[in-house]
Amino acid sequence: MDTDVLIVGAGPTGLMLANQLARRGVRCQIIDRHAGPALQTRALGVQARTLEIYSHLGLADRALELGKRGTGANLWAQGRKMARVPLGEAGVGVTPYPFILILGQDDNERIMGERLRDWPMSVQWNTELVELKQMTDHVAATLKLPGGATRTATAAWIAGCDGAHSAVRELNGIGFPGAPYEHVFFVADTEATGTMVPDEVNVYLWQEGFHLLFPMRGKDHWRIVGIVPPDLRNTDGLEFPAVMPSLRKEAGTSLSIKSCSWFSTYRIHHRRAARFRDRRCFLLGDAAHIHSPVGAQGMNTGLQDAYNLAWKLTLVVQGNADVALLDSYEQERVPIAQRLLNTTDRGFRLAVSDSPIAGLFRTKILARIGAFAMSIKRVQAWAFRIVSQTGIHYRWSSLSRSLGRMPEDAPRGGDRFPWLKLKLAAGGPVEDLYQKIDDMRLHLIVIGQSAPATVGGAGFIDVHAIPADPVNDAELASARIPGTSYYLLRPDGHIGLCGIHLEPGDVEKYLSERLRLGTAPKARA
Ligand SMILES: Cc1cc2nc3c(=O)[nH]c(=O)nc-3n(C[C@H](O)[C@H](O)[C@H](O)COP(=O)(O)OP(=O)(O)OC[C@H]3O[C@@H](n4cnc5c(N)ncnc54)[C@H](O)[C@@H]3O)c2cc1C
Repeated sequence: MDTDVLIVGAGPTGLMLANQLARRGVRCQIIDRHAGPALQTRALGVQARTLEIYSHLGLADRALELGKRGTGANLWAQGRKMARVPLGEAGVGVTPYPFILILGQDDNERIMGERLRDWPMSVQWNTELVELKQMTDHVAATLKLPGGATRTATAAWIAGCDGAHSAVRELNGIGFPGAPYEHVFFVADTEATGTMVPDEVNVYLWQEGFHLLFPMRGKDHWRIVGIVPPDLRNTDGLEFPAVMPSLRKEAGTSLSIKSCSWFSTYRIHHRRAARFRDRRCFLLGDAAHIHSPVGAQGMNTGLQDAYNLAWKLTLVVQGNADVALLDSYEQERVPIAQRLLNTTDRGFRLAVSDSPIAGLFRTKILARIGAFAMSIKRVQAWAFRIVSQTGIHYRWSSLSRSLGRMPEDAPRGGDRFPWLKLKLAAGGPVEDLYQKIDDMRLHLIVIGQSAPATVGGAGFIDVHAIPADPVNDAELASARIPGTSYYLLRPDGHIGLCGIHLEPGDVEKYLSERLRLGTAPKARA
């Protein structure tokens, strides 16, 4: 076998998967049909949950250094500023990163590509998957090399991170049902001045649609996103000056564009692959789901597909878990993708509808309701959890178990374990739990009861007995965690098992029946 995992596609999703597998010691290769990294910015918003993952990968500081923190969004309607929505306040205490980071996809790809070299590993550019054959115990992939020659590579698993036109999806005959929207979008990276509130997102709602202006790195650099006016929709070779009149009409005649470094138009589709797995092949990122850019979720969702699959593939490839564990990838990620498609579709239709009523709604009502709703702290907190992806949970998953009488509002099986600052040793300092827990392992957190020194699957599980302390009591209470409870965290930080009283055998049973771990793990390959 040439490799354990062949990753097809070196966009953000493939690069995240390659990093996660390589740092866990999995033999993998990553190929891309292009000659090198994409140079366009494309996706621009990095969500808090992605930054949490970057932090474990040692990339969060670099991302923060390169990006701009979006601290607020300003809603404009018909030239008047209607409201400012604070983007950060609602996330304080929820995550170490209570904001959206404005950092282009090209920068995200660059920092993940650089990190890959530390394992050490690099992308095989100019290498295209053109054929594949699934066998019982491996996949034979035909790769087209620079110059046109082909070679066959054998891999135990293939990860299709190859974007919307995925060859892995098509070669496996997996459908991609959905449809394009009729609207054509444009994106422009510009140097501009105008009414925009500096360093914040500016949303200009208008009768026929909207314009979004995102602050980018550098003075007066703005990403402008908008809808191509209907009369220009079918124009070939459209250039930025053509959309300027409609843009000025809405964003104000004071809008002055000094330069435009990138302009592109694109038609958006909303589609989801019928399956995210066919035997030894997986689909992740845009290969599995595409949707409107409402909410800046696309790139982030692909990154989290990779994070979800990586630890499971590692356990299986290294012979420590049964292959059945991999069924949970599709079980957990399909509903997330479907919900995302539904919500972005609803939001998008409202934002782009051509009807006069929708236009009135957008300019007269939406801005006011939006501003009012977002002034309510609970609504802000709810919106932050959705947009930041910190609220994603897998409660329905076969890997999620909550035992005993857990209070209704307590974190439960499938939830992302909350970000807490605790004294992890009696009399010790208050520490950031996310910094202390390593995402390569499982963690058993035991509260208000004696903790076992070790548990089954000891090779993978760290036990943390949380000492009784007023600081800990207050922090646990604010997260609605019962004073007597236990939580077994998966490597991706989601709760696998939780309960009130830790009974002997509960954890072992969960590990063997749910995670399908062997009780005597084999040595790492
Ligand atoms: C103009 C534009 C603007 C966008 N703006 C936003 C935005 O504001 N917010 C947002 O969230 N999203 C946005 N997106 C979407 C975002 O770019 C995608 O969600 C993201 O790129 C998905 O990453 P991915 O790694 O899954 O796929 P991709 O980035 O598409 O990467 C797939 C990779 O696979 C390679 N590949 C394909 N086929 C093969 C093959 N057969 N063999 C080998 N390699 C192959 C390709 O060369 C490519 O490098 C935008 C997209 C575009 C085009």
